[in-house]
Amino acid sequence: MIDLRSDTVTLPSDEMRQAARDADVGDDVYGGDPTVNELEARAAELFGKEAGLFVPSGTMGNQIAARVHTAPGQEALVDAKAHVYKWEVGGFAQLSSLQVRAYDAGERGAPTPEQVREGAREESLHIAGTGLLCLENTHNARGGIAIPKTDIDAAAQAAHDLGIPVHLDGARVLNACVALDEDPVAMAEHADSVMFCLSKGLGAPVGSMLVGTEEFIEDATRVRKQFGGGMRQAGIIAAPGLVALENIDRLADDHANAKILAEGLDAVEGLSVPTPDTNIVVVDSEAAGMTSDEFVELCESVDVLGGGFGEYHTRLTTNLNVSREDVEEAVERIADAVESR
Ligand SMILES: *Cc1c(COP(=O)(O)O)cnc(C)c1O
Repeated sequence: MIDLRSDTVTLPSDEMRQAARDADVGDDVYGGDPTVNELEARAAELFGKEAGLFVPSGTMGNQIAARVHTAPGQEALVDAKAHVYKWEVGGFAQLSSLQVRAYDAGERGAPTPEQVREGAREESLHIAGTGLLCLENTHNARGGIAIPKTDIDAAAQAAHDLGIPVHLDGARVLNACVALDEDPVAMAEHADSVMFCLSKGLGAPVGSMLVGTEEFIEDATRVRKQFGGGMRQAGIIAAPGLVALENIDRLADDHANAKILAEGLDAVEGLSVPTPDTNIVVVDSEAAGMTSDEFVELCESVDVLGGGFGEYHTRLTTNLNVSREDVEEAVERIADAVESR
């Protein structure tokens, strides 16, 4: 089975399992887990922020950030295809009483400064005001595009000029940094908070990180407790996270494999596959007369797994458990299956 459903499907390495077994632990709700503390310090340092917080999932990290940055009733300015808007079960509304105002970031993935100014609403007697700009990099629903620092900075600075804080949903921001050869510190420079996932391309079994100022993380720690994310001997799962941080440079392998996969499939009659920036390959099977459901089923019939990504679009995501040989094999199997339909 070649599993390309997501980069979350990776299994922990022997080294991660060993690290979990051997981790020094304590009660993290009391701040007493040395392994969690080390992971939080390393994450903060990686992005040049004052402090970090270990959270169970990327979703919780984003939701905590939104709660800390905003007041109830305010608007959150997000892309129409943002993960926080499409795939977090209405969390902004339910957990932080936010209204979402969506812009269309198009293929750029980030709003222009003009879009930020147009979308921002100033507080008044009648208006709750904009409490947050949330950016996403890489942009998942827009095909894993790696957004350059200049575009992130321009949007963030436009928000800051209006007194609006900026959160970066950086579930895969390290993929963006590797693809663009950008320092994570520079990428995060104008974001007030950043969330990134250990459990995606980096291969950890569980966990994400939130980083920001000391004051932000202090508030975030209280909200994490309220959301039920206070964990006790969490060093057991933080230890594989520390090992996962060694996997940053090898994200380039996933990107190279994604290019091979995309080029191979694009050569198949009826499939249209743009060259990916990172590890997310989006296959358009409309010209082959197949909906995404049909294409996913066809792939499954030859033991390749992918995920629906719109009516005619399917997402295939390269990851740590998939080799170059595997993607070449996947191309062959899918090409044969499409041609012999
Ligand atoms: C996966 C993802 C998340 C959520 O992370 P989970 O750990 O699955 O909750 C948030 N934002 C983006 C862009 C993602 O791709």
